[in-house]
Amino acid sequence: MLRKAYRKAREFAAAAGAGARRRPLSSFCDVPTETADAVVIGAGVVGLAVARELALKGRDVLVIESASTFGTGISSRNSEVVHAGIYYPPKSLKAVLCARGRELLYKYCSDKVIPHKQLGKLIVATGSAEIPKLEQILKRGIENGVEDLRVVDGSLAMEMEPELHCVKALLSPSSGIVDSHSFMLSLVGEAENIGATISYNTTVIGGQVEDNSLHLQISDSKVIENHEGEFLVQPQLVIIPKIVINSAGLSAQHLARRFRGLEESIIPTSYFARGCYFTLSNTKSPFSHLIYPIPEDGGLGVHVTLDLSGQVKFGPDVEWISDVDDFSSFLNRFDYSVNSDLSSKFYPEIRKYFPNLRDGALLPGYSGIRPKLSGQGQLPTDFVIQGEEIHGIPGLVNLFGIESPGLTSSLAIAGYIASKFVS
Ligand SMILES: Cc1cc2nc3c(=O)[nH]c(=O)nc-3n(C[C@H](O)[C@H](O)[C@H](O)COP(=O)(O)OP(=O)(O)OC[C@H]3O[C@@H](n4cnc5c(N)ncnc54)[C@H](O)[C@@H]3O)c2cc1C
Repeated sequence: MLRKAYRKAREFAAAAGAGARRRPLSSFCDVPTETADAVVIGAGVVGLAVARELALKGRDVLVIESASTFGTGISSRNSEVVHAGIYYPPKSLKAVLCARGRELLYKYCSDKVIPHKQLGKLIVATGSAEIPKLEQILKRGIENGVEDLRVVDGSLAMEMEPELHCVKALLSPSSGIVDSHSFMLSLVGEAENIGATISYNTTVIGGQVEDNSLHLQISDSKVIENHEGEFLVQPQLVIIPKIVINSAGLSAQHLARRFRGLEESIIPTSYFARGCYFTLSNTKSPFSHLIYPIPEDGGLGVHVTLDLSGQVKFGPDVEWISDVDDFSSFLNRFDYSVNSDLSSKFYPEIRKYFPNLRDGALLPGYSGIRPKLSGQGQLPTDFVIQGEEIHGIPGLVNLFGIESPGLTSSLAIAGYIASKFVS
């Protein structure tokens, strides 16, 4: 039904000159309108997990994704680490959903034969001054119910990892890695098998609260790609869903601000922190565990992650970057380049725990951008998941600041949304 309506909308747009007629966003009398049950905006790992969960609950789900395929945003630009749930304030959404999400993710990966490995992680103190911080992390982990954490003497840690230098470490056996692409592919397959539809190359450009529901304004992504300026695009379709999950990752706030009738004061400010990765040239991984230094402001420190083929990567660092305009954010036009000069910052960081790192061994890898709710020097924040009780709009759920551990938590976030906001 919706596919048909969308096709109709495209035909309509073509006839009208590729949707280029300009109008204020409030009046769209000649735009086709369709009702829907549940719309999930964004086919990243979180949107896909939510779509699957809602479809399993018997909802008729439409996922709207601006890109030509799933998972091209934050979800394909991360460390692919399954976090144990150590660092976060106790009882926070991050702590609770990470621990639950980890269990669900390991089970899902085992059941569906998705490549993953519970490698274990060493959090390392590289000098005695860092030992109190390691102890705080241990205390925090225990408060969060991560029961398998173990303090390991430097000598034992260095026996486990001969290339490692540290004076003390914390072993987290339940940390691991997952092939995030295979995981998302499985979510897509499962969601589609139980009736969900994904509309790619389709962008939600705004919305309007009318008669107590959110009317979503939809455009072909090509139209906004070719559009200059951003406020006067006419949508090609208006969809009126019973449930809307705003899971647009880096653009969740940009989009929410374009929902007329949604109180602006409840939309948190967005901050963006790029993290770059470097890989090792032509070398087998010197480590068999994930190696993490003590966390830094804005991130978990330049750590060692392995992928499932045994390739090692170092990162991500933290670089605060400025915002982009609404449409560029919907189209994921962020700067993901990795400047090779950055390696001069990585070498000394990495050599604190990997002193044998050779000059010239680091090669630029890739980068990802964290959707943060606090800026440089500010305290870390929790995930924000807002339902009607916060904004007063029936059926709308906004997800803001779904940074790490969002991959680990994705199945738990989906369960949380389905049980708390969807009857
Ligand atoms: C550097 C880095 C390292 C990380 N490491 C880890 C880790 O090791 N472990 C872990 O658990 N987590 C990690 N994370 C966090 C994790 O990757 C994210 O929490 C997760 O991928 C967020 O998924 P998402 O679906 O919310 O966002 P996204 O994957 O960005 O999906 C949002 C989707 O919405 C689409 N979209 C945007 N605007 C619109 C619109 N207007 N209309 C239609 N579609 C739209 C986008 O194209 C995109 O596909 C890391 C993150 C970063 C940046």
